[in-house]
Amino acid sequence: METASYTDLRLMHRFYLLCGLLVVAHLFVVAHDTQAYLPWSCAVIDLVEWLGIAALVWRARRTPAPTALRWWLVVAAMAFVNVANNIYLLLLMGVGQNNPAPGAPMFCYALYGIAMILAITMTFRERTLTLTGAIDALMAMVMAWLFFVRIFSWVSASGTDNLQNVHYMIVTMDVLSLFLTLCAFTRLAGAGDVELKHFYFAVAFYCATSTLVAAIRNRLILHSQTLYLELLVLIAPLLLGVLCLRPPSSWIRRYQPRPRMVDLAESISPFFLGLGLTALSISLWTTRPALAALGVAVAIVGYGIRNVITQSQQMAAERKLLGLRDELEDLVVTDPLTGVANRRGFDRQLANLWAAASSGASSLSILMIDIDYFKRFNDDYGHAMGDHSLRLVAGNLSEWLHAHQGGVLARYGGEEFAVLLPGTSHGDAMAAAESLRGGVEGLRVDSAQGFLSVTISIGVACSSQTPTENAKALLALADKALLEAKARGRNKVMAYG
Ligand code: GH3
Ligand code: MG
Ligand code: MG
Repeated sequence: METASYTDLRLMHRFYLLCGLLVVAHLFVVAHDTQAYLPWSCAVIDLVEWLGIAALVWRARRTPAPTALRWWLVVAAMAFVNVANNIYLLLLMGVGQNNPAPGAPMFCYALYGIAMILAITMTFRERTLTLTGAIDALMAMVMAWLFFVRIFSWVSASGTDNLQNVHYMIVTMDVLSLFLTLCAFTRLAGAGDVELKHFYFAVAFYCATSTLVAAIRNRLILHSQTLYLELLVLIAPLLLGVLCLRPPSSWIRRYQPRPRMVDLAESISPFFLGLGLTALSISLWTTRPALAALGVAVAIVGYGIRNVITQSQQMAAERKLLGLRDELEDLVVTDPLTGVANRRGFDRQLANLWAAASSGASSLSILMIDIDYFKRFNDDYGHAMGDHSLRLVAGNLSEWLHAHQGGVLARYGGEEFAVLLPGTSHGDAMAAAESLRGGVEGLRVDSAQGFLSVTISIGVACSSQTPTENAKALLALADKALLEAKARGRNKVMAYG
């Protein structure tokens, strides 16, 4: 944020100097305080606004997408305001000097409205402009169109001298400016990342200032023709220029909205758009009912389609997340080398099967399996070959269980496996263990040194044969039996007791 490229102190100082010079020039102009100097005042305001636009362009070029698009929309908005000012200037130098509300600049203000509404309310999903952006744009354009119709129900293209109509127009402009300010502050409250915070900080304070300044100036100008009022017009564009050149204040950088606030501010934006459009449509209800109905329809349909799109996007994201969660859950209980259950999976299954066996008073048999002389195997043929045979042994045990007994196979750790056989008697468990041992003995591990073989020793414990207090105790008995099998020469099946 504080990097040299984010702010350019020399540029900022030049900007301040130019602003200062223009303010002094404007003071000099308004000091004459005669309407003959109004074009000069307009010209100075024009220069200040172009200076503000230059600062905006500078910021837009240094901001990454998608926030850059918001800055560029504000650049466009300010350019429209400037064009409006230029047209006004031309009118002042030509005909219509006494016209307080010329039509052509009003058209530019409508365009300013579209660009500003879009810049503030647009939402981006996965940093891209989507169909929802197009719907927002359509709603903003209809809104600007209705604004234009609303304004031109009070003025003609050449303006109006009717003060009552001018008053209506001022109130409409105030309401729209307030609406933009409210939207910008709401988005600022929910702006999480630093670029967005800067954007909404600058725009929200610009909107608030220009709303206040316009409300004061537009009212006073109806009663007083003093040029000093034109000084007020400089405030908002100068403020915007300063706010976009310098980084936002530290309190705004420290401000971190809660995730719920971020979601709320983003999801309320389209509602604002629909609300604004509906309010404008209702204001046209008596004079242009067809257009008003169209406006309300666009608001309802636009908002509806938008909701359908975002909701279906959310549902798809939720489905994907649920799928990922299942995948993750599988990974958590799976041994990556052999693909059978890992120790965690084994512990879970043991707890479940023990509980089921205890409540149903059925038996549970545990087989503890350990590969014989595996350290030597690794030393002689390497760890890669060791891993390979671990996979083969696991595959062999798993296949046999799948084809005959069922039950749970897990890699207990290292070269040890464990098998859980629910509802299996001691005799059946011994028979199964014998088959498993024989199956592994018959395995041939293909290697560069020819075919190798591995053997396993198995310890068996059955809850109906030797009742224990808990699963852990039964497991310990199977382990003891395994030690016995090892002691008796390996490649053997032994039962406890
Ligand atoms: P015993 O017959 O008494 O069980 O002898 P052993 O050599 O199999 O037993 P010991 O506990 O001394 O050695 C176990 C070896 O298993 C040590 C280790 O190198 C090997 N081992 C454990 N986990 C892995 C593994 O993931 N991959 C490979 N390649 N070897 C492993
Ligand atoms: Mg071991
Ligand atoms: Mg071993």
